[in-house]
Amino acid sequence: MSSGKIKFFIDGIEVYGEKGKTILEVAREYNIEIPALCYDKRLSFNGACRLCIVEVQGEKRPVASCCYPIYEGMNVYTKTEKIINYRKLTLQLLISNHPLDCMICEKSGDCLLEKYAYEYGIKELNYQGEKQKIREKDGKPFIIRDYEKCILCGRCVKVCEEIVGANAIDYKNRGFLTEISAGFDQILKDTECLFCGNCIDVCPVGALREEYSERKGRVWEFKKVNTICPYCGVGCGIEVFVKNNEIVKVKGAEENPVNNGFLCVKGKFGFEYVKSPDRLKKPLLRKTSRKEKPEFEEIDWETALNLIKEKLIEIKVRYGPDSIAGLSSAKCTNEENYLFQKFFRQIIGTNNVDHCARLCHSSTIAGLSQTIGAAAMTNPFDEIENFSECIILVGSNVSETQPVTSYKIRKAVERGAKLIVIDPKEIEMAKISTIYLQPKIGTDVMLFNAIAKIIIENDWIDKKFIEERVENFQEYKNFIENLSLSEAEKITGIPIEKIKQVAEIYAKSKASVIIWAMGITQHTTGTDNVLTLSNLSLLTGQIGKVGAGLCPLRGQNNVQGACDMGALPDFLPGYQKIENQELREKFEKFWDVKLPENKGLTVVEIFEAIYDEKIKGLYIMGENPLVSDPDINHLKEAIGKIKFLVVQDIFLTETANYADIVLPSCCSFEKEGTFTNTERRVQKLNKCVEPPGDAKPDWEILKELAKKFNFDWDYQNVWDILKEINQLVPIYKGITPERIRQTSLQWPCPEVNHPGTKTLHLEKFPIGKGKLKIVEYKEPFELPDDEYPFILTTGRILPEYHTRTMTKRVSGLKELIGEPFCLMNRKDMEEMGLKDNFKVKIFSRRGMIEIKVMGSSSIPKKVVFIPFHFAEQAANILTHHQLDPVSKIPEYKICSIKIEK
Ligand code: SF4
Repeated sequence: MSSGKIKFFIDGIEVYGEKGKTILEVAREYNIEIPALCYDKRLSFNGACRLCIVEVQGEKRPVASCCYPIYEGMNVYTKTEKIINYRKLTLQLLISNHPLDCMICEKSGDCLLEKYAYEYGIKELNYQGEKQKIREKDGKPFIIRDYEKCILCGRCVKVCEEIVGANAIDYKNRGFLTEISAGFDQILKDTECLFCGNCIDVCPVGALREEYSERKGRVWEFKKVNTICPYCGVGCGIEVFVKNNEIVKVKGAEENPVNNGFLCVKGKFGFEYVKSPDRLKKPLLRKTSRKEKPEFEEIDWETALNLIKEKLIEIKVRYGPDSIAGLSSAKCTNEENYLFQKFFRQIIGTNNVDHCARLCHSSTIAGLSQTIGAAAMTNPFDEIENFSECIILVGSNVSETQPVTSYKIRKAVERGAKLIVIDPKEIEMAKISTIYLQPKIGTDVMLFNAIAKIIIENDWIDKKFIEERVENFQEYKNFIENLSLSEAEKITGIPIEKIKQVAEIYAKSKASVIIWAMGITQHTTGTDNVLTLSNLSLLTGQIGKVGAGLCPLRGQNNVQGACDMGALPDFLPGYQKIENQELREKFEKFWDVKLPENKGLTVVEIFEAIYDEKIKGLYIMGENPLVSDPDINHLKEAIGKIKFLVVQDIFLTETANYADIVLPSCCSFEKEGTFTNTERRVQKLNKCVEPPGDAKPDWEILKELAKKFNFDWDYQNVWDILKEINQLVPIYKGITPERIRQTSLQWPCPEVNHPGTKTLHLEKFPIGKGKLKIVEYKEPFELPDDEYPFILTTGRILPEYHTRTMTKRVSGLKELIGEPFCLMNRKDMEEMGLKDNFKVKIFSRRGMIEIKVMGSSSIPKKVVFIPFHFAEQAANILTHHQLDPVSKIPEYKICSIKIEK
């Protein structure tokens, strides 16, 4: 058995371990209990607590098993009398300097020190000396730092340094006076702390705790439910602790392969919104006109659904099915998105169904569908962490938008991978990069064409890969040869030498990956930007192998799933083209209707059609376009014209305020279903608490509405919907309810016994050969001029999420952010006589907002950054709605503005 492994003995039992492993690691694999306080398999070991000592035959003294590597034939003894006595001594020493307040300690029942003291029968203290008196330190808004309970195991320091990279805490003093401190004893808020709370989750005792959970109960009183974080596209696994139908705390799920138990601030602490008094509890009917202050009355479900049916039928009969549109939701489950698009296609008879992916990655879909035939991340996180040798991170402030992904990139860099950061804003990850490029905003096509030219000129291409798997090389080469590198240097602002360094590292590395997000996609040239990235991977063969590929990072928790489920105007579920008759017929047969043949309208086109009074009815499930979409004033005018608006949500959002009928739905903690994360991983969601009032899961609402239209959707539960998806969507065929209850699976998963697909395109692309595309550089739509001399760029910030419907109802997150702000280059501020916290008026050709200004050296001159989350100071009042002609994505990343003090 176990060929290639090292054979040795623990307490006389024959065991096998991989070379390089320690005694403790192998013992845990065999469920042999060795106590340890400082050990966490996800962190480096330092043998600090000495509790894991064992005897090794031939060694004079006991050794720390967490640091001692195994070797062939060794004999290890874990429970000799000597060892037990040493451990008792260690425990007594620890406890003699520890408060003995287990009966009132929050951690009781979940404390390793308490557990070991019990197991080793520590009844009396033999050491009654002085105890370390350390005052409790300020960890607000989320963390209690009760260092009198600290046993100096160092796990918190290690997780902060090794995983998160914040380095906010460290040891202070020496010997008996040693304690953990945050930057010269500052309060946590004044340090680099990101409030991810991972220090709490790794603390084996009660020294670090969640402030929110204090006095709400102890571990044995809680129901524990494993589910998925409701925020970003990483899809971290979480353990939710519930008491009396209230979420009391959240912890990272260690066994989840996505995050291995690590979280960011939103995943760890951002659940308070679930029990907000603002939650919608009953359907609402508008009593006032849209021009007046909104007033609603509560109605019952029957009345609400009947009214919706009557109104939609009236509009359909009078103006045709294409006069109705629906916006689905990246926050809802796969099953709900599937039903939403089915409702519009099968029952209303229109393809006018879209969702917010249009506003973040539609250009990725448009670009990659042309070149390689699939638009999802080609590689899973663990390949990036463990195998990529070169990582190009472009247009993605990943530590703010997908923090747990940034932990993985950090790990890769520690392993020796070269990180190349390309971003006009000097983002946090630039600090650990090998090369940082700061191109002028909107010049990506020129930059990536220049890299391609250098790769071809230097013959760093992968000839075999091109020959076997790529089309159009000669035409592309002819085009790129005419590109002037000095012109590229002038336009991008990046010296050719630096571009050359990037080209060489990328092309020559064994496995290079390009990771991007909205800095690439949200442009009128978004599709072109993506095509140029795709060209690089095809030229160099940096795709279709482990650790190498193209990885667009998705924003919201289930934006990948909403796309997969066909909440798109041009695709049926599973990216099956609506215009393809054969595919359409498959759905027609199954749904027993004739389906509309033409593509529907996209998000921004839907609002234009409402403005032009072509669309009369709109149904929005879980989206808030009046904050998230561009040119909000224009949008409000459009919404003012609509005949009938339904909004289905968990709160009365800015958009719901304009609705005729509002339907109360469940949040992700209140229902079952599946989410698909950014690496195509389908994961099961579990219900943790009951919903408030009469709120229902979105799928149930849609099912009941369908019934009103005489469509008997006979789903008893969400799993019946997934079974239907299995039958109609080839990439989800093998992702059955039975399997997803046991494990997560990455699509494509074409059969019930298929293990799922980690790396895409290993053998070939779905469209056969990859296609190199000729892309000319074009300027952004609106550049600064004398009247509007600054560039506005928008984006996300760590403690906030999308349009803040959830995060503004988490008191700690609100406290972290404070007032809405914009960031400006400090030199620009000096020139304008501005100081931090001054209020400025920012004008574009479309509107004006007043906002606090903060100086930042990471922002280039003549650029202003505004987080798009804030409804009151909405950046999207300023943005324009000019679209990328192919993907129809708006250009959120560039518009011209002027600033007044
Ligand atoms: Fe949740 Fe994303 Fe943070 Fe993970 S990284 S905890 S999924 S918000």
